[in-house]
Amino acid sequence: QDDVFKKVISHAKEYGFIFPSSEIYDGLSAVYDYGQNGAELKNNIKQYWWKAMVQLNENIVGIDSAILMHPTTWKASGHVDAFNDPLIDNKDSKKRFRADVLVEDYCAKIEDKENKEIEKAAKRFGESFDKAQFVATNPKILEYRAKREQILSRLAKSLENEDLADVKALIEELEIADPDTGSKNWTEVRQFNLMFGTKLGASADSAMDLYLRPETAQGIFVNFLNVQKTSRHRLPFGIAQIGKAFRNEIVARQFIFRMREFEQMEMQFFVAPGTELEFYEQWKQKRLNWHLALGLGNDNYRFHDHEKLAHYANAAADIEFNFPFGFKELEGIHSRTDFDLKAHEKHSGRKLQFFDPERNENYVPYVVETSVGLDRLFLSIFSHCLKDEVLEDGSERTVLSLPPALAPVKAAILPLMKKDGLAEYAENIFNDLKYDFNLFYEEKDAIGKRYRRQDAIGTPYCITIDHDSLTDHTVTIRDRDTMQQERVPVSELRRIIDEKTNF
Ligand code: ATP
Repeated sequence: QDDVFKKVISHAKEYGFIFPSSEIYDGLSAVYDYGQNGAELKNNIKQYWWKAMVQLNENIVGIDSAILMHPTTWKASGHVDAFNDPLIDNKDSKKRFRADVLVEDYCAKIEDKENKEIEKAAKRFGESFDKAQFVATNPKILEYRAKREQILSRLAKSLENEDLADVKALIEELEIADPDTGSKNWTEVRQFNLMFGTKLGASADSAMDLYLRPETAQGIFVNFLNVQKTSRHRLPFGIAQIGKAFRNEIVARQFIFRMREFEQMEMQFFVAPGTELEFYEQWKQKRLNWHLALGLGNDNYRFHDHEKLAHYANAAADIEFNFPFGFKELEGIHSRTDFDLKAHEKHSGRKLQFFDPERNENYVPYVVETSVGLDRLFLSIFSHCLKDEVLEDGSERTVLSLPPALAPVKAAILPLMKKDGLAEYAENIFNDLKYDFNLFYEEKDAIGKRYRRQDAIGTPYCITIDHDSLTDHTVTIRDRDTMQQERVPVSELRRIIDEKTNF
């Protein structure tokens, strides 16, 4: 699995999808740049989401709010006081860790042991193995589960009560060591706020302390009435947004899975109080269906319902994806109650209410939100679609089998050779189709090599112009997935490409 992930990272770089940020200065930790193909793929994912959320729902509109917001926003949202991670340093290695992640990793190891016991039993009992019964009765499994539960509930309680001394005590009791060096020599646990600070204004005494937004949602909450009044939507209605968010993550690892600067695609759905759980269930299902429609395999997704809820939520679930490093959160669906709007009313002194003509009353709406990380979605698609294939003749190829609608390049226009007027003929085709599709033109190298390079960036079609094209006005069109080649009239190209690559 490690090898798969390494291949994903190196392929992303080699083919112009993702580069480490400021690489000539040895990079900046957990910050990445999207290259020419990455930017196209990312834009296509955004469009696919925007269409599904905004264009196809008559009661959802999209906005684009600023990254910098009035600092009181983050007081009201709870981020100034509660957006913290508990940190612990190892005195010997000088490495910094998230204390809760150390404990969770310890529990994950117990879970691995559980899974090994289950696997062993499944082998031993063969077809007659009843997993549910085994898990419910096997003393070893029960012991492991009880231990995990006990540790995790103590961790949750200590974090909730901000009893950081107890988090440290837990780490010591479990004899958790620095995973890299084995040292158990720790500092105290401290809270560390994840927001990036910055300043507005030049002079030292009048400058205002600001934060780079850690989520896009607050830009929607503070605009709730502006949008509601100008769009004239009644409840229930939604506001969607795609934009950057910033978090000073401590354990920033796993490539673009956890970044310090990333992009979110969020939608806040405003509903009447008391109806929120119904909409929450609806959005959970709708969002899962949206992911499934990408065609990456239904078994690669699952829900994880939260037991421990954030201070603002009365229900929450993640959609998890089977990344190369296991099932991890891809999208969150949260029933945020009226927490945010009420908090903004309190801090701003302005009413953020809706007059409901049916109920004949004013109230602060409840909110159901769907929040997906664009970069994580990119990673899920990219890592799943990257495949090494052995062909019938024994040769190998690397292919990125992206859903055609998301592919950075829709078709490559490839004259077999430059001379004899083939290049000019190919250029004419390029110029005719470029208004409708993102194309790639190339006349160098053997055609087989050119096909392989297009496979590696996920181009659904390669169009080859040869000498016959000049007289019969047909070209060869090669399908990325089947590698079948077909002779088609030039006049049919637009329809064929469109059929395959349209959303
Ligand atoms: P996690 O538990 O993985 O830190 P979270 O629960 O803090 O995520 P939310 O605050 O619910 O995440 O944010 C919504 C979505 O934004 C997540 O589902 C994820 O896809 C994305 N996201 C959050 N943090 C990051 C990050 N540091 N890098 C990339 N994407 C992120």
